[in-house]
Formats: sequence, structure tokens, C-alpha cells
Amino acid sequence: MNVLLTGGAGYIGSHVLRAVLAAGHNCVVYDSLIKGHAEAVETTGAELVLGDIADTRKLLQVIGDNKIDTVINFAAFIEAGESMDKPEKYFRNNTVKTLELLETMRAGGVKRIVFSSTAAVYGTPELTPIAETAPLAPINPYGSSKLCVEYMLQAYAAAYGLGGVALRYFNVAGAHPAGDIGEAHSPETHLVPLVLQVPLGQRDDIKIFGDDYDTPDGTCIRDYIHVCDLADAHVLAAGAIEPGEIKVYNLGNGEGFSVKEVIETCRKVTGHAIPAEITPRRPGDPPRLVASSAKAIEQLGWRPEYPELETIVSHAWAWHESHPNGYND
Ligand code: UDP
Repeated sequence: MNVLLTGGAGYIGSHVLRAVLAAGHNCVVYDSLIKGHAEAVETTGAELVLGDIADTRKLLQVIGDNKIDTVINFAAFIEAGESMDKPEKYFRNNTVKTLELLETMRAGGVKRIVFSSTAAVYGTPELTPIAETAPLAPINPYGSSKLCVEYMLQAYAAAYGLGGVALRYFNVAGAHPAGDIGEAHSPETHLVPLVLQVPLGQRDDIKIFGDDYDTPDGTCIRDYIHVCDLADAHVLAAGAIEPGEIKVYNLGNGEGFSVKEVIETCRKVTGHAIPAEITPRRPGDPPRLVASSAKAIEQLGWRPEYPELETIVSHAWAWHESHPNGYND
């Protein structure tokens, strides 16, 4: 395959880049570097093209020059909390610009896509674990912006024969065991890297956003998946694309951990006390999100290598300890 990774210099994209290259495919990274890091691409030798996914002319050139046949798209904003305050940012970037991307793919004759979707499309699901057939009812604009794209993909499949896979990620964490790439968001909003900032001496404590949820310890429950396992699923998904069809898979480990349990695991891994303080709920947070990934396991042959939360946190800690300022070290 000749793969274009849009947003390939970001946290997940840079891990997928390594997985795609390891599987023997050609890869070009296309990234605006608004959120991504050139350093996350450089060591692989893959070409990095600086650009916006809505820059049709530049994208068409890259597609033509590299005979791209498959796009894996990560170029998106990802903060559910922020999307509540700035919905236009999410619909413009994640939805409208992805429509532009689809149009450019059509103009360039690219008929295969793997799309980063999210568990946020389910909103507040009634049944756990969540299967792909669960009702789609996002409760934040981030989830809505991604669900819009899933609908667009289906329409393009019906109208133009687009083939694709939408992967609904649960909570992605951890870092590559090689230790040279990992999570480096600015600002950081995700639980695991924020908790690890305490033992790094970068914050005094971790705030727990609400302990009055209807869960055993009152804090929100999430399903954490290792970023390398997620990356492997993209390679399998790309191989499963069929013309005129959009397949959908959940990606998680099928086990939920509360915010308090995640903090406790971080204490164990780092040997640090990690003080925590309860603060009000963060708007847009569902109480419990746990995946059923049975479909990905069955249909894609996906086998997570690092399903244990402790391993996920250990790999994240190895990255942050050796790169306390992310790629600026
Ligand atoms: N969370 C928290 N304190 C923080 C950051 C996150 O209590 O400083 C909680 C958040 O409310 C959610 C869970 O941790 O219940 C995971 O949040 P994250 O932002 O990592 O991922 P999301 O589930 O929003 O995709």
C-alpha cells in the first residue's frame, strides 16, 4: 500500500506510522504541525509534508507524486471538554475539513480510508460493554463532529464506492516501548499524562473531575488501550477495506478503570504518593465508557499485546521520565 497519514506527526499518528512501515508499506506523513511534532516522524525516514488537510492543491500534489492509494486520517482536535466551549472549532476542523479531504481524495482517485472515530459517538450508553450496534448519541460536539464524518463516509461509499473503516477509539494511553515517541499534547488534558506530571514535579496534585457519578467509587470509568495496540489495529483495518463499504470497529480492552484506579496504578508504577483533589465534574463527561472489541478481534484478527493498565502506564512513564518536556528535550 502507498499510505498517506494525515495528522501523522501527532501522538497516535506517529505510532501508526511505525506500525504501517513495519508492515512493509510506503508512507508519507501530511501534518500542519499545529499539534504534531516533526521529531515524531524524523527518525523513521518517512517524508513529512507540511500542510493543512483543506489545502486541496497541496494534498492533490502529494497524492499524485506518491501514488497514494490509502489515507489514514488523524488530523483532528480531540478535547471533549474544549469542544463544549468552542464547538465551531471542532465542526470546522474535524468535520468540514474532513469533507474537503474526502473531496480531494475523490479528485485524486483515492478510494480507501481508515478514519479515527471515537467512543464519544455513543454519548452516555445504557449497556456496558458497548458494542458497535449501540445507539449513537454523542453528548459533546467532539463526538458529534466525528459522527458527522462517519455519516459522510457512508454516503461517499454509497455514492462513489469509497471503501473505509471507522475505528472508534476508547481511551488511548501509553507510549512506544522503544521510548522515543509518546504523548506530548499542549496543553495536556488527558488523565494518564496529567497524573504523571505530579511525580515529574510539574504539578502539585491531580484534580479528579467529580466523585459523585453513579460508579462504585464515584469517579468516571474508562477503557484504556495501549497506543501500539491501537496502531496495529490500523494496519489490520487498512487490509480489511472493501470497496463501497464502511466497516466500524470499537477499540478498547473491555475492562473499565475509574479515575481513582488510574491514579492508584500511577502511584504503584512511579513509587510516588501523587496527591489528588476532588473538583467539580467536567462538562461533557459520560460516567462509564467500556468497549466490546469482540468484532475487531473476530473480524480483523486484532490481538492486543499490552492489555494491562499497569503496562500501559509503565510505558507512558518511561517516555515521560526520559522526555519530561516532550519533544523539547
Ligand atoms: N480526568 C480527571 N482529571 C484530569 C483529567 C481527566 O479526573 O485532570 C477524568 C475525566 O473527567 C475522564 C477521565 O479522567 O473521566 C478520562 O479523561 P481524558 O480527558 O483522559 O479522556 P476522555 O475520556 O475525555 O476521552
